[in-house]
Amino acid sequence: MTAAKGKLIRGSTGDWEVVIGLEVHAQVTSNSKLFSGASTAFGGEPNSHVSLVDAAMPGMLPVINEECVRQAVRTGLGLNAQINRRSVFDRKNYFYPDLPQGYQISQYKSPIVGEGEIVVELEGGKTATVGIERLHLEQDAGKSLHDQRPEVSFVDLNRSGVALMEIVSKPDLRDAEQAKAYVTKLRSILRYLGTCDGDMEKGNLRADVNVSVRRPGGPLGTRCEIKNMNSINFIGQAIEYEARRQVEIIEDGGTIEQETRLFDPNKGETRSMRTKEEAHDYRYFPDPDLLPLEFSEAYVEKLKAELPELPDQKKARFMSELGLSPYDAGVLVAERESADFYETVLENLAHKVRDGKLAANWVINELFGRLNKEGRDISASPVSAPQLAAIVDLIGEGTISGKIAKDLFEIVWTGGGDPRALVEARGMKQVTDLSAIEKAVDDIISANPDKVAQVKAKPAAIQWFVGQVMKSSGGKANPQAVNDLLKSKLGI
Ligand code: ADP
Ligand code: MG
Repeated sequence: MTAAKGKLIRGSTGDWEVVIGLEVHAQVTSNSKLFSGASTAFGGEPNSHVSLVDAAMPGMLPVINEECVRQAVRTGLGLNAQINRRSVFDRKNYFYPDLPQGYQISQYKSPIVGEGEIVVELEGGKTATVGIERLHLEQDAGKSLHDQRPEVSFVDLNRSGVALMEIVSKPDLRDAEQAKAYVTKLRSILRYLGTCDGDMEKGNLRADVNVSVRRPGGPLGTRCEIKNMNSINFIGQAIEYEARRQVEIIEDGGTIEQETRLFDPNKGETRSMRTKEEAHDYRYFPDPDLLPLEFSEAYVEKLKAELPELPDQKKARFMSELGLSPYDAGVLVAERESADFYETVLENLAHKVRDGKLAANWVINELFGRLNKEGRDISASPVSAPQLAAIVDLIGEGTISGKIAKDLFEIVWTGGGDPRALVEARGMKQVTDLSAIEKAVDDIISANPDKVAQVKAKPAAIQWFVGQVMKSSGGKANPQAVNDLLKSKLGI
């Protein structure tokens, strides 16, 4: 697979290409932990969701949570990846106060999911395919709290043992925009699948970002890894900073040391956390408490058959069935909630195929525009999907014009109500009565002989007449009828 070209960095000695690979940690959506029955609920009292297994009491044995396995397989299928019918859990040994076992149960040489790929959306409607190296299951650690009291630290084990999927990309990304688009798309796929809620603020999805630079197309450079990023914007900023830092070092005659770095959002800088020499030796070995994970072809096939429609498929369907542009279809499917909203509008339309495109315009331009302006989420939209469908129906069938529909949208947004009843009650119907329109047309023509002369020379000036007639009808005249009448009366 060839990676999409990215934005090069101009150095003092020439151009540099940035190479990025991401390790994303996604918390598995599951009620209980990977190897215990303790709750995964967010925000409980410290140490209130901790079983004896999570606290690593002597003699406790892990028991695999089937739901987490199912979710990992479903995720692998959603990433078009190889599902490994046999995988192994290993112990990754290190000492840390928030890791009571003294090791993390993870997967090393034999992960549950192998190679896959995802298509990411880039600017200008372009797409790029990014390779997935692997996906493995592992336990999360607890949390050390150093800010509660000045003289002691505390440990909260609520997260200890929660299932994570580590999703490792190939080094296929070439600039900050691509990396951001990758995380956005991956998050969207996980949310469609319902395998991770994608809540980055809560840390339920976070990324380690590996960055190196090289001469365009040259051999790979040494990478630095920026740990634990939980904002897509910060990921972009960290990459921009880190790539420049590496270029400057190399151009000054230095070399890049492989190291782990942290991003400081206040300064917009990355700084060293530990170098390769200080890196842990994890002494991985298969966990003797757990059997290898094995499942049948039939199990995988069943999960595959039950997968929901994913964003790429939905986008393709919107384009082929309803004639949406790739851009519009992409906007609608980007978030599961907006796609669901649009689909509910479609279900409520009287003529889904005829008006599907019109409905897409209304969702994207009017509804999203208005929601953005007020900083609201689609789940808190004052205009419901059936209401929006009714507005679109009224335009589609010619009862109201697009312009009146905007007023109607405004009325529904602020006061609610049934759009059809509102049109009736407020006399908002479009005038298709030709004699009424004809009168308005005649009036405008006789009052403006100079404009009549102009339009004969320059037919495009008819728009001025259309505007005047629409204005005099309070926007209610049928624009097509106005156009037709004007053309015949003006003789153009
Ligand atoms: P580790 O756990 O040692 O960081 P992984 O294999 O889990 O190793 O992850 C390595 C990540 O670094 C992958 O996402 C990979 O694409 C990326 N990567 C590898 N080599 C480079 C490189 N030269 N520049 C940028 N990213 C790289
Ligand atoms: Mg790493």
